[in-house]
Amino acid sequence: MDHARLAIIGGGIAGLTLANFLEQAQLDYQLYEAAVDYTPKGLGIWLGINAMQVMRRLGLAEAIYERATHLEALRLMDQKGGLLRQLDLSQFKTLEEQVVCLSRQDLQALLLKGIPTKRLKTGKALQEIDFATQSLTLTFTDGHRSTCDLLIGADGLKSRVRQLLFPTYRLRPNAARCFRGIACLRLPESFRRAGNEVWAGGDLFGFCHIQPEEVFWWSIKQQPKAEIRTLQDIQDAMAHFPEIVEQIIAATDVRSRLHAAELPRLPFLKRHAERRICLLGDAANAMRPNLGQGGSMAIESAYYLANCLMQTPDSESAFIQYEKQYRSKLHWVKQQSAWVGRLSALSHPVIVGLRNLGLRLTPANVAAWQLASIYRLKSV
Ligand SMILES: Cc1cc2nc3c(=O)[nH]c(=O)nc-3n(C[C@H](O)[C@H](O)[C@H](O)COP(=O)(O)OP(=O)(O)OC[C@H]3O[C@@H](n4cnc5c(N)ncnc54)[C@H](O)[C@@H]3O)c2cc1C
Repeated sequence: MDHARLAIIGGGIAGLTLANFLEQAQLDYQLYEAAVDYTPKGLGIWLGINAMQVMRRLGLAEAIYERATHLEALRLMDQKGGLLRQLDLSQFKTLEEQVVCLSRQDLQALLLKGIPTKRLKTGKALQEIDFATQSLTLTFTDGHRSTCDLLIGADGLKSRVRQLLFPTYRLRPNAARCFRGIACLRLPESFRRAGNEVWAGGDLFGFCHIQPEEVFWWSIKQQPKAEIRTLQDIQDAMAHFPEIVEQIIAATDVRSRLHAAELPRLPFLKRHAERRICLLGDAANAMRPNLGQGGSMAIESAYYLANCLMQTPDSESAFIQYEKQYRSKLHWVKQQSAWVGRLSALSHPVIVGLRNLGLRLTPANVAAWQLASIYRLKSV
């Protein structure tokens, strides 16, 4: 049975970011990933300025900028394509990084490069944790067993580690469905350098370039009347959106570039760490996609946790310190994205009219203040 001081379960964005920091600090760790075919996957991903500041500390910022589209503005539109709000991102230049959108595959591949093969065990899906032993004993579905002093659960939305640690916590079912795709087209000039989102009848559709000829799009359908399986089903479900949405869906290559997922309700988790185990990324703090901060907060929290572990690598007090100092920001960002999610899901025409009026009249510096608070890293 092998032993590591630190074991990380899950090689997604959170686990990989943490592993890169631990590697650079020369700490003893082992990363276990469930996938047997562990090749970089996914469509597009947004990285906010907060995530790019972390990537700068890992030495990966320039490589990401080379592969990404820099976003100059965030644009929110109504059902007819009319502008509800526009936020100029150049106002955050004092934070020295930019908001980008890139292929999730490229990001994962860059993070993977920083991890020696001996640190990574693939095809290892965690099944059980024995808390009774002096070291934690981990059992995987293939029968493999190993021990560790401290465990980090970075195993995503349906985290097994969270299930074992907090068995009463449940994701709540929700009728809403989330779709993502990559379309091969060049957007009209006005959309090209922006992160664009359209709100219509309680549903949303967002899109931005990841490459000059590739557009990453994401969409939430609140109450699909029928099961959505094909691109044509999505086209029909989004028929109430402006014409640009129809063009993007039509340009999507369905064979390899479409992804559908449930969007469960995500109650707050009161604790992130207990019994020598700490949850990270979506396992701890999955949030609605409305602020585009799920991946960025996973990266940011990996940075904070890595710093706590570097200060006290052998001790559970690193987890306590991490919770005490940083959980409040994660909760606040999750609250903000839930609030924006509720606003976007309003569907009664009168309420939507009032909401849209409110959005048009709200001073731009209110949204700018909110984003600046998200983008600023806490000091470590
Ligand atoms: C395949 C994939 C594609 C995605 N594509 C997009 C996208 O296109 N755009 C976007 O915005 N977001 C996407 N996401 C979600 C987004 O990347 C995450 O929300 C965010 O980055 C948080 O990352 P995470 O590392 O906490 O979780 P995740 O990225 O979900 O990673 C969790 C990892 O843990 C592994 N794992 C799960 N259970 C176990 C277990 N029992 N034992 C060991 N390992 C386990 C999973 O295989 C996965 O590699 C995707 C996630 C996945 C897994």
